[in-house]
Amino acid sequence: MSDAELVLRSTRVITPEGTRAASVAVSAGKITAVLGHDAEVPSGARLVDLGDDVLLPGLVDTHVHVNDPGRTEWEGFWTATRAAAAGGITTLVDMPLNSLPPTTTVDNLRTKQEVAADKAHIDVGFWGGALPDNVKDLRPLHEAGVFGFKAFLSPSGVEEFPHLDQDRLARSLAEITSFGGLLIVHAEDPHHLDAAPQHGGPRYADFLASRPRDAEDTAIAQLIAQAKRLHARVHVLHLSSSDALPLIAEAKRDGVRITVETCPHYLTLTAEEVPDGASEFKCCPPIRESANQDLLWQALADGTVDCVVTDHSPSTADLKTDDFATAWGGISGLQLSLAAVWTEARRRGHGLEDVVRWMSARTAQLVGLDQKGAIEAGRDADFAVLAPDETFTVDPAALQHRNRVTAYAGKTLYGVVKSTWLRGERIVADGEFTDPKGRLLTRTD
Ligand SMILES: [Zn+2]
Repeated sequence: MSDAELVLRSTRVITPEGTRAASVAVSAGKITAVLGHDAEVPSGARLVDLGDDVLLPGLVDTHVHVNDPGRTEWEGFWTATRAAAAGGITTLVDMPLNSLPPTTTVDNLRTKQEVAADKAHIDVGFWGGALPDNVKDLRPLHEAGVFGFKAFLSPSGVEEFPHLDQDRLARSLAEITSFGGLLIVHAEDPHHLDAAPQHGGPRYADFLASRPRDAEDTAIAQLIAQAKRLHARVHVLHLSSSDALPLIAEAKRDGVRITVETCPHYLTLTAEEVPDGASEFKCCPPIRESANQDLLWQALADGTVDCVVTDHSPSTADLKTDDFATAWGGISGLQLSLAAVWTEARRRGHGLEDVVRWMSARTAQLVGLDQKGAIEAGRDADFAVLAPDETFTVDPAALQHRNRVTAYAGKTLYGVVKSTWLRGERIVADGEFTDPKGRLLTRTD
C-alpha cells in the first residue's frame, strides 16, 4: 500500500468475500487495497483504527423523494443528504416526483441538477419519469444520464405526474427497451383499487382494505407479461404484497429481466401495530400483516426480492392528518433505514453481510454503479462505520430530515452509525458534518 494516504483498520470489515479483520488502503478517493489487519502502514499515511466497529460499504439508496425544487418544505437536497449521511448512506438516487418540476424532460433534469449541486452531502443521481405524453423525452433523458424511468400504473398522488394505462405502458416500455433502459414501476392496478372499499377515516384496517394485495398482484402480473413480450428490463418498486412472490419467482426462473425491491417499513412495521389515526404509517402500497412480513423476509433470503430501499417520501406534518384517505402517503426513513433493517435482520438470524448485500451491493448493481457497493480495490472509498450491538431510541427531534415525523418514533434500534465516509473523506462523525462533498452521478454504460 505504498501510495496510500489513508488506512482504515477494523477487526470487522465487510467485503464481498465475507467479514474479516483488515486494513483498507485509500488513495485519491478510491480503495487501493484490502490488506491484512496488521499490514504495515506506509509513512505519510493516516491510520484510523476503528477497533471492533464494523466497516461496511456506504449504502446506496435508489429510492428517495427529495422534492427539491418545488416542495422543499417537505424535504430538500441539503436535509435529505445530511440525513442519509447520518444513516450510513453515501449514494442516493432521487425519484422524478414530487419535485416541481418533475424529472420528465432534459431541461427539468438540468434544473434539478443545478439545485442539488451545492447541497449534496453524498453522491446523488436521478431517475427520469415516464408520463403518458413524454415518450419523445425518454431517449434524451437516458442520454443525459438518468438511471432509468419511473412509471405509475395508478394515480401517483400528485397531478403533474399522471399514471400510464396498459397501452401507454407498452409504448413507453418499448421505447425504453429500444435504447437498453430500465423501467421502474409503482405496481398497483387502478381497477382493483377502484373496486376496493373506500371508507376513509382514521381506522387503519379500513385503509389497508382500500389498498388490497390483489391490486399489487395484478399490476405485477401485467408488468411481467409486458416485460416478457418486449424482452424489457423492469424493476418492481416497494413490494408489499407477499402474494405476488410466487409470480415473481416464476418470472425470474423463466428468464424475465425483473428485479424487485422492498422497504424497511414493510420489513419492520406491521399493520397490527399501527394505531388508528397514525398516518405517519401511511404509504402506498400499505404496511401489511405480520404474516405477510415473514414471507417478505423469506423472499429476501432466497433472492426473490433483490434489495431494500427507503422510499423516503416525507411531507409537512400538517398533511399527515388522522384521516388515512386524505393524509399524505409516504414514510420518512432515510436516517433510520440501516438501523431499522439491521434490528429486524439480526432478530431473524441474518448477518450484516446480508444487510449490506440488500442495501448496498444489489442497489448499486441495479443502477449500474460499479464504483459503489463493495469494499474492494478499485471502488470508491465510501464507508459507514457501525457499532452493530449498540442501541438507541428514536427521538424525532434528533433526525436531520426536514420534517421530523416518523413511524419509528420511540423504537429502540440496534446499530449506531459512528461515521460515514465519502471518497475517503469523513463527511459526518457523531452528528458533526463537513461542508457538502457529494457529486452528481450519471448513468454510465
Ligand atoms: Zn416512492
